[in-house]
Parts: sequence; structure tokens; C-alpha cells
Amino acid sequence: MGMRALGSLRRVRHLNCGTFRARLGGPALVSHVVVCEFEHGLALIDSGLGTDDVAHANSRLGVGFRLLLPTLDPAEAAVTQLDAMGFSAADVAHIVLTHMDLDHLGGAADFPSATVHTSAVEQSSATTRTDAAAKVRYRAPQLRAVKNRTSGYSDFPDELFGFAGHMVHDSVCAIPMPGHTAGHCAIAIDDPQRGWLLHAGDAFHHRRAITGQSSGRSISMVETALADDRRQLRENQRRLADLAARTAGPQIFCAHDPVQFRALADSAR
Ligand SMILES: [Zn+2]
Repeated sequence: MGMRALGSLRRVRHLNCGTFRARLGGPALVSHVVVCEFEHGLALIDSGLGTDDVAHANSRLGVGFRLLLPTLDPAEAAVTQLDAMGFSAADVAHIVLTHMDLDHLGGAADFPSATVHTSAVEQSSATTRTDAAAKVRYRAPQLRAVKNRTSGYSDFPDELFGFAGHMVHDSVCAIPMPGHTAGHCAIAIDDPQRGWLLHAGDAFHHRRAITGQSSGRSISMVETALADDRRQLRENQRRLADLAARTAGPQIFCAHDPVQFRALADSAR
């Protein structure tokens, strides 16, 4: 079923579906998941860590991931938080991913009836690469859970904010933003209360990348270590910084910045 069958977007909420206590110079990091409530069901933008990831962290996430000090709290899983809000797993019909890294894809396993949307480039990198770096970020058990329900798009015929994009719904647009991974996309959401939001995934990791004096000029050590292509990462941070400086531009946030998360979560209550 295509995502347009969900009807119009009614409400947008923000969940943290995975805290990391590796502080990287600030408060604990979050995994920012956007819940889009449509007339006829829900869609998630990214999915954080899932209940199986938390319960079997060493095998699901790999031992190296523990260096980020994930809290591994089952109460943070999207399915648990949605249940507390009165929704069931079956209400989630679609999941639109920024990319297929373990901390963005994991929660999708808890929503077996959801179609998972990602770029065809990301889908093929995640499922066919066998090098050591790919095995750290793309986890086989998570990929198996969405294998027969992943829809990869390869055309970007639409335009939003002057960027090429793929409208998966009139209110949700995937904008290619490679660098962190080859098929990484930022996902724009037309929030009926706030206007356009842009979930930039891991295109940057701290709000200073797109605001203030250092915007677009340097990428951090962590970003460098995790980047598939540093030149593209840097170039896209420049484009995002330019977009953030526009008066009528979208509100831009990344997946892991706790300050950006808190501001949006509080304002959307
Ligand atoms: Zn991430």
C-alpha cells in the first residue's frame, strides 16, 4: 500500500527511541524519531532501537556499539511509547528511514506490518556490502526483519527548498543527502502545526554544524570516523547551513542532538 492512502497529516510528535550516554562534550545523545499521525494510520520517520536490540544488544548491535553507552531501556522503544499513547504496532503502516544504520532501523522490527521506505542506494549498500565497516553499521538481524517489506526509491523527480527529492506522500519528502552513508536522505515533514520540518538524520551530529560560526566549515572527529564520504558530508552540511539561514526555510534537526530534540518534543506536546 502506498503511503498516500494514509490521507492527510494531522499531527506530528517527537520521541527519543535510544539514549546514548557517551557524551561527546555535552548532554546524553538521543535517537530522534518523528511520529506522523495521519487520518488513517501512523508513519514513523526513523525507528531508533527496537525491543530486540535492547534485549539482545551484543548480538543485535555488536560489541563495538556498546562504546556509545546506550541505556538499552525497553521503555524507550517506539512500540512501547506508542502503546502508552494508546496506539498498537499495527497502527504503524509506514516507516521512512534516513538511512539503515543500526540505531535508525532497529525499531522497525517491532512493526511487522509497516512498509519500510529508504533510497535504493541505501538498501543496496546495507544488504550487499560485506566489508568490516558495513558489518558494524548494517546489522543482519535488523535487515532480515524488514527484508520482504522494504521499498527502495531511486528517482528524485520532485523539488523542495530547491533540493531534488522524492515525495513519498504530499507531506513527506526524502531529499538525498549522502556522506554519512551513500544512500542517506534527509526527510522533510509538513507539520500542520509548525510548517516544514527537516529530519536530517546523521547528516550532522550537533546543531553547531548548521548554526553559528563553525557552520559548514569543519566536521567533527566522530563525524569523520563514521562518514562513508567526508567530502559529501561537508558539502551537505554547507547546503544545510545555507538552508537554515533562510528566513522561510524548514526547521532543521539531526537524529542525535538532545537540545534540538527537547525543543521540538516540548513544543509538540
Ligand atoms: Zn545515527
